[in-house]
Amino acid sequence: MIVKRYVVKDMPEALTKIRQDLGHDAVILSSKKIKQRGLFGLFSVTQLEVVAAVNDKEPQIAEKKKEGKQPLVQPSNTVNSSEPGPQNERNHIKQPEPGVHQNSDAQVLKEVQELRGILAKFLHQSSEILPAPIQKIRSELVANDVSPEFAERLILNMVKENEEIHLLNEQEFRHLLTDLISKEINDILLPSPLASDSRIVAFVGPTGVGKTTTIAKVAAEELLKNRRRVGLITADTYRIAAVEQLKTYANILQIPVEVVFTTEEVEQAIEKMKDRDLILIDTAGRNYGDLVFVEHLNQFLQASRPDETCLVLSLTTKSTDLEHIVANFEGVAIDKFIFTKLDETTSYGAIYNLTHRFKKPLAYLTTGQNVPDDIEVATPERIARLVVGEKQYV
Ligand code: GDP
Repeated sequence: MIVKRYVVKDMPEALTKIRQDLGHDAVILSSKKIKQRGLFGLFSVTQLEVVAAVNDKEPQIAEKKKEGKQPLVQPSNTVNSSEPGPQNERNHIKQPEPGVHQNSDAQVLKEVQELRGILAKFLHQSSEILPAPIQKIRSELVANDVSPEFAERLILNMVKENEEIHLLNEQEFRHLLTDLISKEINDILLPSPLASDSRIVAFVGPTGVGKTTTIAKVAAEELLKNRRRVGLITADTYRIAAVEQLKTYANILQIPVEVVFTTEEVEQAIEKMKDRDLILIDTAGRNYGDLVFVEHLNQFLQASRPDETCLVLSLTTKSTDLEHIVANFEGVAIDKFIFTKLDETTSYGAIYNLTHRFKKPLAYLTTGQNVPDDIEVATPERIARLVVGEKQYV
């Protein structure tokens, strides 16, 4: 192990020097502010003392880099760059020969993928030399299901925006991160419940996520708090229980409900409800991994012409499955997400991943089986706290 001490102006300067001297695998062992005496012992200035270390073999990497032989980041599936032969070319993104446009789309896609891989690895290495509390919070974000690439991006944004990041303890860093996420949401994805001028709203999503229950909660809220005349339509006729469930809620709330089997019937049902200010439509919960069902759903939505369509997803679904489900819904005009069953999980990162990846705002969060109470319009701060993993706020 090689250990080096640096006295610098600030952490960015330290990071640059450490990377130059010790390479990208170096870790910071400690950092503290020190007073340096100025001229004749006067005008002392505050500086930063940083101690960093790396395994013995790492300087070779730095050496090679100086010789210009080592790529900045070596993709994990590549061979040592000093080996001759064709394999070595894999370290570099191939340039097409002038005037040759073969397979351009596939080629571009491949190059973009390679670049993304290199970038991801670079980001990962950069944040690995960060102080321990920051690394811990980065791991917590990932454990909370925030995708690794978003976690890296958040941490690096934090480092960029705060010069004194190394002086923060874990709790201070967590608070700043919560503020950053909250600000991001505030700027681009402000949570938005149903718009007051939306008259027809469709709810789509896989079976069992809580669509029907959520519709009942929204109906009650709009009826009781906003005094709107609400009507319900259900096309979820594959499950007898779903129809009965919605009818029961409609009875309790004393609002009309129509059951429809075809796209023509939905048009008629909407016509019948022309005295209603708000019509909430429950669609069939099917396996939307199957694109045939997505196509049926699209036909149904074309006939219903909703002002808004909400995709309802349960946070108890595995993060990777959620991404697939949402990708399958890409051909459907989704306006907003609703996440259900917050009370049944402790990982909330998917809220961040999906709203950011698909650039859709969040309409509601649901937190239990009770109609109408267990639903809320989440504030940016609430979402940020959930994402950062401050469980006391659930
Ligand atoms: P649908 O098939 O999507 O219409 O789902 P349902 O509305 O029938 O709900 C399926 C189950 O999830 C029911 O037992 C609901 O009570 C339950 N459920 C709905 N929302 C929530 C929630 O926010 N938290 C919990 N724990 N259960 C919920």
